[in-house]
Amino acid sequence: MPELPEVETIVRTLKEQILGRRIDSLEVPKPEAVQAGADLLPALPGSKVADVRRRAKLLLMRLSGKEDLILAFHLKMTGRFFVHPENTPAMKHTRLILNIDGGDRLFFDDMRTFGYCRIMRPADLADWPFYATLGPEPLELAPEELAASLQGAFQGRKISIKAALLDQRNVAGIGNIYADEALFRARIAPQRPASSLNPADLRALVCALREILLRSIAECGSSIRDYRDAFGRAGAFQNSFSVYGRGGQNCLSCGNALKSVRIAGRGTVYCRHCQK
Ligand SMILES: [Zn+2]
Repeated sequence: MPELPEVETIVRTLKEQILGRRIDSLEVPKPEAVQAGADLLPALPGSKVADVRRRAKLLLMRLSGKEDLILAFHLKMTGRFFVHPENTPAMKHTRLILNIDGGDRLFFDDMRTFGYCRIMRPADLADWPFYATLGPEPLELAPEELAASLQGAFQGRKISIKAALLDQRNVAGIGNIYADEALFRARIAPQRPASSLNPADLRALVCALREILLRSIAECGSSIRDYRDAFGRAGAFQNSFSVYGRGGQNCLSCGNALKSVRIAGRGTVYCRHCQK
């Protein structure tokens, strides 16, 4: 699933191609992809793309026209965007097409179909329960503020730190890859109770998260299987993984074999010697 660095990369590469452009018409080959707000679809033609941004793992497209609208896309497992030339037909997995001025066609494709789009007025965004409960952005808060926020969120919680990082209410945008990589970098064992982390641990974790996320964004994200940016290009950060997908291989720090376990139902790789 695309996580924060991948969605951020898609936002940047999509923005480059569609910002300020007008939507002339739309096609919805798979109406079920519009999870909410389908009644607003007729208001899209004629509006302009005023902004494309990210919140957590959501891509938010703001349209300005007769009526300002937000299109919120969750890419889930395999959602992706691509701008095709005029007359390109819908493909098997194409969910939604926006025809843009000049003839380009923006496709929202999703092979696994878990991705979705919700259309709403800007004022209604905060009333969407999922959106309203999203935790802080790890790259927007200062490290000490994020550490304090996590300390409050973890207090009295029995869940593991790995599960706590995956919970979007604690911190936004983190998934399996960046949770494992950050815990390795911070030398914290993934199964430790979240509430057992002291201020120094939290500080190390927050700094590790920031560093890993920024490095991944700089390399346009991690392409494990399906993820591509809005130009169809793969990311490169998968070549820099320390632990993710490396179970049984040697720890890059101490040389011992990395261990694969399941935590919170998710495959997790860590070093028993380096992470405590
Ligand atoms: Zn090690």
